[in-house]
Amino acid sequence: MTGKTHLAIGAFVGAASAAYFSFGLEQAAYFIGVSAFSALSADLDGPSMLSSKLGKLSKLIREAALWGGALFLGIIAYYYLTGRPISPLLGLSGAAAFLLGLVMKQGFIRNALVSVVGAAFMYAGYRNQMIWLIGFGLFVAWVPWLKHRGMTHTIWAVPIWGAIAWGLEKQLQIEGLAITAMLGYLSHLIADTLTPSGVKWLYPIVKKSFKIRM
Ligand SMILES: [Zn+2]
Repeated sequence: MTGKTHLAIGAFVGAASAAYFSFGLEQAAYFIGVSAFSALSADLDGPSMLSSKLGKLSKLIREAALWGGALFLGIIAYYYLTGRPISPLLGLSGAAAFLLGLVMKQGFIRNALVSVVGAAFMYAGYRNQMIWLIGFGLFVAWVPWLKHRGMTHTIWAVPIWGAIAWGLEKQLQIEGLAITAMLGYLSHLIADTLTPSGVKWLYPIVKKSFKIRM
């Protein structure tokens, strides 16, 4: 399953969820963003996303997200060093964009960079006493080093992801965000179940790979 497919399905799930839960455009954007992000996060592990198969447009989006995010983080670092106030939401969005770009890359340097971003989230969570953000940072920092389609591609990862998103839901006070995040994450696992290698939903209890041939 390519990143583009996961992204599209995740965005669709988010839009459906927004239609059900939300009352305005801004909230809808949160629902779609969180769901699309959740649908991609499972593949923060190992090499995946079949970079060589990426089309021109997705490559462009990847590079734009990566360098736009990096530029953003640079500006935030400058603000921080010169003692100017930083909007937490802006900082988070920049880091999230950078991360999205990295999800679609692969290799050791990519993994190390993802871990650095994760550590930054953990630090920001610690500084602002946001426990969910520490949890999210831990997930991001740890997952790149796991085997591809291992622990992130199990049913156990879904409630963990949900717990992190529940903290975000409380923070933003947008009801339904945690469920949307879990649905987005689930959509990833379901989509991967339709591929030839399938998903080990119950790993490590049941090592069998579940797949559905279409
Ligand atoms: Zn996957």
